[in-house]
Amino acid sequence: MIACLSLQIINKLMKVIDHINQAKDTLISFEVLPPLKGKGIGALYKHLDPLMEFKPSFINVTYHRSEHVFKKNADGSFQKVVIRKRPGTESICAAIMNKYNVDTVPHLICGGFDVNDTEDALINLHYLGIDNVLVLRGDAAINEATFEPEPGGHKYAIDLLRQVVNLNSGVYLQDELKDSHKTKFCIGVAGYPEKHFESPNMQTDLRFLKAKIDGGAEYIVTQMFFDNAKYYAFVDACREIGITVPIIPGLKPIYTKKQLTVLPKTFYIDLPDDLSNEVLKCKTDLDVEQVGTEWLLEQSKDLMKNGVPVLHYYTLGRPYMIVDVMKSLYGL
Ligand SMILES: Cc1cc2nc3c(=O)[nH]c(=O)nc-3n(C[C@H](O)[C@H](O)[C@H](O)COP(=O)(O)OP(=O)(O)OC[C@H]3O[C@@H](n4cnc5c(N)ncnc54)[C@H](O)[C@@H]3O)c2cc1C
Repeated sequence: MIACLSLQIINKLMKVIDHINQAKDTLISFEVLPPLKGKGIGALYKHLDPLMEFKPSFINVTYHRSEHVFKKNADGSFQKVVIRKRPGTESICAAIMNKYNVDTVPHLICGGFDVNDTEDALINLHYLGIDNVLVLRGDAAINEATFEPEPGGHKYAIDLLRQVVNLNSGVYLQDELKDSHKTKFCIGVAGYPEKHFESPNMQTDLRFLKAKIDGGAEYIVTQMFFDNAKYYAFVDACREIGITVPIIPGLKPIYTKKQLTVLPKTFYIDLPDDLSNEVLKCKTDLDVEQVGTEWLLEQSKDLMKNGVPVLHYYTLGRPYMIVDVMKSLYGL
């Protein structure tokens, strides 16, 4: 979790919540993944270059925990090996900030880290001038049936959130530190318009979401959804229980038929009948991209018309589809 980069002076760094509070219109943000280990950062820049034209207010960079795999030795025995397929979240945030002069939001997860690793990561981010974090639990490791916290690590996102809030108050793990420096992280958390898959029901999930907001989170970013009605119902349900913070919709394009089964299985979301019907009619991948682009554009227009604070796009896979949506959205 160490980021060693020499940073140029950045003009203006802002917290996500300040971007939102100062905005007159709906903002744009993008989410990217760190490159696979062994690949350079150049491909990520190529991915981002055309998107930067649309002046995103911030760019999120996901976090990927390490996985344990068993490799067979020549003598037939097995060796446990730790692999992190997409390392470098903090460094990538700093590199993006440095190259594009844009705010970045590293995701921070509980899985795979003990509280000391987490504190060191937060200190690194703070030194790099990164004052935003999206605080998450993370999913179960690939070889685990359910999420298991790291020994000495956090079990839920709210526990990690408390650690960040403590650091913002100058409370470090070593309580004997005197006159300790206060960080100033703006904290976002995840919300699920179609419920988190482990939650017994929506109300319980919302109660835990509210606890994260009451604990100090300043905004919510949602899981992707393809039916805006679900987002609006979620926002209403949040408001009813007293969640007043901005709720940023997470959006993703459909570009293959396979996604019709992969997305519900991976993210526990439904795709509307109209969308799946149109995709099923497609003869080529290009046709699917066309349908996906139009769907995303209509979703975006409707959300914008309804005054959402930010349109947050998951850009993995087909950034040019997002570019097409942006161009149509802004009449370019
Ligand atoms: C916008 C967004 C970005 C994401 N980025 C990443 C990423 O970069 N890397 C990654 O690995 N994953 C990422 N994820 C996936 C996320 O880590 C998983 O969805 C994970 O299963 C839950 O994370 P959470 O932060 O919502 O967990 P939590 O808020 O901890 O909730 C997890 C479950 O526990 C329940 N719960 C919460 N608090 C309590 C409590 N005190 N007691 C009992 N139950 C409780 C909740 O209702 C929920 O069912 C992202 C998800 C979203 C929506």
